Amino acid sequence: MSEEKKEKSASALLKEKLFASKKQGCLKVSGEELEAADSFCEEYKNFLGKAKIEREAVAYAIEAAKKAGFEEFDRTKTYSAGDRVYVNNRNKAVMLAVIGKKGTTEGVRLGIAHIDSPRLDLKPVPLYEANNLALFKTHYYGGIKKYQWPTVPLALHGAVALKDGTTINVVVGEDESDPCFVVTDLLPHLADEQMTAVMRKAFNGEHMNVLVGSRPFNDDEESEAVKLNIMNILFEKYGITENDFLSADLTMVPAGNARDLGFDRSMIGAYGHDDKVCAYPALMAALDAKTPEKTIIAVLTDREEIGSDGNTGMKSTYMADFVSDLAAADGMQLRHVMAQTTCLSADVNAAFDPTYASAFEANNSCYINCGAVITKYTGSGGKYSTSDASAEFMAKVRKVLDDADVLWQTGELGKVDGGGGGTIAKYVANLNADVVDLGVPVLSMHAPMEVVSKLDVYETYRALYEFYMQ
Ligand code: MN
Ligand code: MN
Repeated sequence: MSEEKKEKSASALLKEKLFASKKQGCLKVSGEELEAADSFCEEYKNFLGKAKIEREAVAYAIEAAKKAGFEEFDRTKTYSAGDRVYVNNRNKAVMLAVIGKKGTTEGVRLGIAHIDSPRLDLKPVPLYEANNLALFKTHYYGGIKKYQWPTVPLALHGAVALKDGTTINVVVGEDESDPCFVVTDLLPHLADEQMTAVMRKAFNGEHMNVLVGSRPFNDDEESEAVKLNIMNILFEKYGITENDFLSADLTMVPAGNARDLGFDRSMIGAYGHDDKVCAYPALMAALDAKTPEKTIIAVLTDREEIGSDGNTGMKSTYMADFVSDLAAADGMQLRHVMAQTTCLSADVNAAFDPTYASAFEANNSCYINCGAVITKYTGSGGKYSTSDASAEFMAKVRKVLDDADVLWQTGELGKVDGGGGGTIAKYVANLNADVVDLGVPVLSMHAPMEVVSKLDVYETYRALYEFYMQ
């Protein structure tokens, strides 16, 4: 015998009308949408494996863009609505633009994300021998908890520029047949001092030495025969000598591909989600944008993890210079374009972690599987160092997302006074554009394996696409 469904009480109905929904995101979307999310993430996982560093992400983006009809931007050419161009900034940052029906005359739509991730860069003089072991000295890049990096299989990625003008791309440790590398750690039996030390001192930057070899070149009396053997292998494979390390961008990153995570395969565990998990949706949405109203520009930038300084970071003029070129073609001045420009700064936020609940304020945190997270402001110590999106701009963004049924949530970065952080939103805001952060919630941010939900990745793609096309 089936019971009649109870009618909703007055307070339940009023709650529905007045309160923000607390329903888990997977229950709000259709089965087809979850399937679309899973299939979108298949190529995202592939991208993660191919684009561990910014140079590789730029190469991937340009290859995909060319296939989708993008051409290298030429400021002497005239472009019209629907034309697709890209600008490669030193192989470390890239911008893709689709010219809109109104061009730049009413501002442009920006989607910006960063393609650098925390890692262990090789020092300019990296290779040395100690007690018959060959090692690389490293200088960590970005904010890492150093204890997470020893005993993790590492791969070498990057480029070596030679004096003859050629550049050699290097990837060692990703193929099953490749060797990998590792930062060693002390055995627990001898770690009394280490285990009782303050965490940041127990493992410091000069401990981050990567083991790369142990066999001497031969049995003669020459010292550093193990180092000599490694240098000889590198010379035979790449034609490089010790001085060439100085003109190289080489780095150690966690080896291996992205993997489905959880029995239900609802999540992805991988190195470098921050911020490829937003860069990939920003890129895909730009490739899918056919003829937008306003010119859209997807910016995949470098150097965010170390403060955005440098010519490939968002403190550089490179993006404004490109907008300036597009504006000139429309008879516009940059400042008039920027004042009407809107931007989604696509970056990750910290997903609520029940194991570390005390670091979060539950009402203002973002959650895995609840969709793209809008972060009104970041910063620390009383909203220092952040652009705080205006109420009016927040209203516009909400409307765009709601009109298209994009699953979204909001979140602050952890508890007030718990620490804090920033994104590149403020550098765009400083150009007098409206900007807000929108991206994917991440567990274990900046760790060798970070975790995201497939649904959130897909909803971030949808958010960016709808924003571009509005
Ligand atoms: Mn980030
Ligand atoms: Mn980061």
